[in-house]
Amino acid sequence: MITKQKLLIASHNPGKVREYSALLADLPLEITWLTAEGIAFEVEETGQTFEENAILKATTYARLSGLLTWADDSGLEVDYLGGWPGVASARHAGPDASDADRVRILLARMEGVPYEKRAAVFRCVIALASPEGLLFTVSGSTSGVIARFPAGEGGFGYDPVFFVPKFGRTFAELPLETKNAISHRGRAARRARLLLERHLARQ
Ligand code: IMP
Repeated sequence: MITKQKLLIASHNPGKVREYSALLADLPLEITWLTAEGIAFEVEETGQTFEENAILKATTYARLSGLLTWADDSGLEVDYLGGWPGVASARHAGPDASDADRVRILLARMEGVPYEKRAAVFRCVIALASPEGLLFTVSGSTSGVIARFPAGEGGFGYDPVFFVPKFGRTFAELPLETKNAISHRGRAARRARLLLERHLARQ
């Protein structure tokens, strides 16, 4: 019997693991994740950029597990706020705050700012590493506008206030397939999959 090579999705977030597993399901790999490998260690995200944090997670977990490892980092950059919250997207309101708290703080900082100055970008960087070191990074982004108030029930994080002019809806109002087709994470993931396939073909 041929045993498949394992690919570790370096996330503690079951939603992310599910999404990436589905995208990679037909590759000749056995997908695994941190909990399944008994890895409780949390990498401290000390990087100044999404790329630094994605590389930090991919290389650390690849070394710890001895496996080919896929890691990502993502967040929202608001032009008017000089790119804030950026790498602090998940944490700027402290460890106990909710998505709703973070959205409220963002909207308060954007109070009175006119539509044409409300541009924002979601970014995602994916890094792939082997236990020997980094193999590649790819990124994806989506442009939008910060809405004046939340709308929609879908998605997570800042989705209810991320308005996509082309669709006239927020990310939280779009069907998941539409969000995946245009999202920063979907775009980065499809690029990463292509490079992963090339890497496997060269082995
Ligand atoms: P991480 O990439 O899991 O470290 O989290 C990044 C943070 O950025 C999340 O907690 C969200 O607040 C935000 N974020 C990243 N991607 C999205 C998205 O697709 N929708 C809404 N918020 C997002």
